[in-house]
Amino acid sequence: MLPSKRDVEVRIRRAAATLATLPPFGVDVPWRRCRTPYRIFLAELLLVRTRVDLVAERFEGIYRRFPSPAAFAAASQDDVAEALASLGLRKRIPLIRRAMEYLVDRHDGCIPASQEELLRIPGVGTYAAAATAAFAFGHRGVPADVNVLRLLARITGLEMEHRTKGSKTLRALLPLLAPETGGPACEVVLDFARLTCKPRRPRCDECSLVSCCHHAHAHIPPASASSA
Ligand code: SF4
Repeated sequence: MLPSKRDVEVRIRRAAATLATLPPFGVDVPWRRCRTPYRIFLAELLLVRTRVDLVAERFEGIYRRFPSPAAFAAASQDDVAEALASLGLRKRIPLIRRAMEYLVDRHDGCIPASQEELLRIPGVGTYAAAATAAFAFGHRGVPADVNVLRLLARITGLEMEHRTKGSKTLRALLPLLAPETGGPACEVVLDFARLTCKPRRPRCDECSLVSCCHHAHAHIPPASASSA
């Protein structure tokens, strides 16, 4: 049986309130250590279809080589290819360069703060725009990350429908999960979804959302979970 709209919303609001009380997960990646809009934007471009640990390892080297959109746009194709080759981004290099050229031409080499303007940058998709707006500028919202969509599906009992894109319904519910501000509070939501509500073995036994989670109620014994 499909969960009711009210049940879905109550569960998500309770989850959001609990997530807002959690401390940061302490994920140590260079673009969180020293936050500037460009570093966060650059990280989001490099993270498309690339592992976080690999980007984290190479990030400072790439940033030192191209410390601004202008430096990136002015670099030769060979320089960029050499710097990014180890990330397996060869096919995306022209797109990343076009994004940097666009920033120089249209935004004086700065990163725009609004999602609408970010989405106009060549090669910037919905996720990268939402993530940059939230993490670099503190805008309210949760990027439609696969882990967050899976978390929403488990809390509500709704179907994912697509393994990575979730469903239109789940994506429409994302704003209910968003903390009051972006930045570190938003990172807690993403980190929780990735590290606690793991894809294969969610850590329900130590999860603070167990009382409002449909999945927990359906899959773990009543002694450990109480339904919303
Ligand atoms: S109780 Fe389990 S399934 Fe539900 S949110 Fe927590 S880790 Fe995920």
